[in-house]
Amino acid sequence: MTEPMGAVRQLPITYLDYAATSPLRAEALAAMEPFFGARFGNPSGSHGVAGDAKAALEEARDEMAELLGAAPGEVVFTGSGTEADNLAVLGALAARAAVNSAPGAVLCSAVEHHAVLESCHAAAKGVGNGRTLELRLAPVDPDGILDLQALEQLLGPEIALVSVMLANNETGAIEPLDSAAAIVRKHAPEALIHTDAVQAAPWMDLAAEAKAASLVSVSAHKFGGPKGVGALVVRRGAVIHPILYGGGQERELRSGTHNVAGVVGMAAALRVTYAQREMQQERVRMLRDRLAQGLLDKVEGTRLCTPLDRSLPGHCNIRFSGVQQEDLLVLLDQRGICASGGSACASGALEPSHVMLAMGLTPSESRSAVRFSLGYASSEADVTHALACVPEAVARLRK
Ligand code: PLP
Repeated sequence: MTEPMGAVRQLPITYLDYAATSPLRAEALAAMEPFFGARFGNPSGSHGVAGDAKAALEEARDEMAELLGAAPGEVVFTGSGTEADNLAVLGALAARAAVNSAPGAVLCSAVEHHAVLESCHAAAKGVGNGRTLELRLAPVDPDGILDLQALEQLLGPEIALVSVMLANNETGAIEPLDSAAAIVRKHAPEALIHTDAVQAAPWMDLAAEAKAASLVSVSAHKFGGPKGVGALVVRRGAVIHPILYGGGQERELRSGTHNVAGVVGMAAALRVTYAQREMQQERVRMLRDRLAQGLLDKVEGTRLCTPLDRSLPGHCNIRFSGVQQEDLLVLLDQRGICASGGSACASGALEPSHVMLAMGLTPSESRSAVRFSLGYASSEADVTHALACVPEAVARLRK
């Protein structure tokens, strides 16, 4: 019997794809509910209903600012992490082009998320202001960590923006942002520093860890908030131009009627994430280590893409030699296990990952990697189920 269109497979599932998205936290849902009902106002208006929405929006802004180590006036709400990245890259480069006629250059690590990488490519082609500029990609080592010496070689006073993510979405590799920023300040003192903290936010204290960047992107759905809402911290002194024009919301930096429910849910989710951070870091790291070690022990021909001690607590990306990730993911899905092969993209197609290629893997090695990512609601039972199913599925594929 076929399932009706739109039917969702019944639980239980073993969800090991937190890096793609996380389940909505109960606290976020509860915080959002009134804004789908009586508190429906548009915060840009001037009457009482609007004022109520505006108060909720600003309360959420205060909360986000405190958690992110910023002033409330430095938080710009966006429609996603992708939009925050685009605003940072295109907005910073547009602002620089407006005051500096020299061509300039933009630099990012070779393992950035497509939201940063494609924004940089677009800016390099002159999208937005017709002024082309040079794009430089900083290489990473075989573990996926930024090569600081190579970064230094690529820097110069012509660099307008440097983007280095705090942690990678595919491997979980934690990038040396502070060291990179110190090198950038020395060799490219005019450059703005952006960090994509979308994957780091569930695990790291961004007030401390992202301090070196003047532009910081986050996305709610990675830490138990709703999808389709994010934020960009724009620290005082960092000048960027908008990429969306209209009603002038968000101090002219992001026009568009606010997603009040989304913003409120995001702040609630980040508050709980931060309150539980130390406990979850330890708990999830133990689960992840058990999963990774179990797979390395039970399945021959497996290798970690990034060592566990260099990656976020929830990530483990493993290569299974001789296995195609698509085939393994299908077998795992049939057994109720949700994992992924690198970054999710709109088409669902699994191209060889630019991250793995930058780490020096061949396209075929890159296609043998599967990312298991755990999060705040992951359990021992998830790990036990994965350890029971993955070795058997790999053995079946290798037969
Ligand atoms: N940056 C990183 C590192 C990500 O992992 C993602 C999402 O996968 C994004 C940006 C994009 O965020 P969003 O899904 O909110 O557009």
